[in-house]
Amino acid sequence: MSSVIDGKQFADDLCEKLKAEVSELEAQHQLLPCIAVVLVGEDPASQVYVRNKVRRCEQLGIRSIEHRLGDDTTEEALLALIDELNNDSAVHGILVQLPVPEQINDKAVLAAISPAKDVDGFHVENVGALTVGENQMVPCTPLGSLMMLQDRLGDLSGKHAVVIGRSNIVGKPMALLLLQQSCTVTIVHSRTKNIEALCQQADILVAAVGRPHFVKADWVKPGAVVIDVGINRIEQDGKSRLVGDVDFDAVSEVASAITPVPGGVGPMTIACLMYNTVAAAKMQQGLV
Ligand code: NAP
Repeated sequence: MSSVIDGKQFADDLCEKLKAEVSELEAQHQLLPCIAVVLVGEDPASQVYVRNKVRRCEQLGIRSIEHRLGDDTTEEALLALIDELNNDSAVHGILVQLPVPEQINDKAVLAAISPAKDVDGFHVENVGALTVGENQMVPCTPLGSLMMLQDRLGDLSGKHAVVIGRSNIVGKPMALLLLQQSCTVTIVHSRTKNIEALCQQADILVAAVGRPHFVKADWVKPGAVVIDVGINRIEQDGKSRLVGDVDFDAVSEVASAITPVPGGVGPMTIACLMYNTVAAAKMQQGLV
């Protein structure tokens, strides 16, 4: 039976440290870290994500400014707002909640955000920095996952990590972070043959697929550490509930440690957004 990695507790602990740092920055340097959160349209899931992020900012003493734009916002109008925020020295982080409505090109939006203020870590310049091992802004979900892995396992060097999924926001940056830790990294995706056999070799298994209960118990090497990034809504017994990409109950019998859904990677993603915002504020103030 594996131990459950409590992402919520881990996130609370990280946020406690950040809260102390935020008050120290204000007292010693008159620096108030600030993030601008931009939400375009009425997507219900995005509204929940933004609300949770803003609430965390309030808990930590980080200033947050919400910009809520209508569904019919043009790309030009959104780019103009980003330009304004890029030039506002009181704003240290800019987050545009994805997805944006279809008339807006999300690549153009991500490219417009100043890399120094790109707290999501999605700008090509930050992706390039991660690729060459000169990390600046690192995407929040893989960063939070790595922190939990290091806490659980200590040195990751030499471990075989299998990452399921190759998206730009989770799979690829996760693989790069694990490679930086000297793991042997395998990335599998929808065209990979014999996924089960590859997963069975993993000391560390990260699932970022977006398919409920995709990873079965017999895919997991006994003693492996499993990070479940997936968030899937399913109907069960007439009720709607959130589950991950891993068959939690069955895999718990095999793995040495596993993150639950909810309460695993999700809370750490928001905590790492706070972490990146504080880091961005310090960098822009020349404090690191
Ligand atoms: P994505 O962009 O849809 O990528 C999914 C990846 O899974 C793709 O690389 C895809 O392969 C691969 N895949 C799909 N079906 C597969 C199959 N049958 N076999 C093997 N690989 C398969 O999703 P994402 O943005 O990375 O997110 C993944 C999951 O994590 C989603 O459930 C999302 O909601 C969740 N998520 C959670 C957080 C959090 O804070 N906890 C943050 C971000 C995302 P191809 O590239 O070949 O298509």
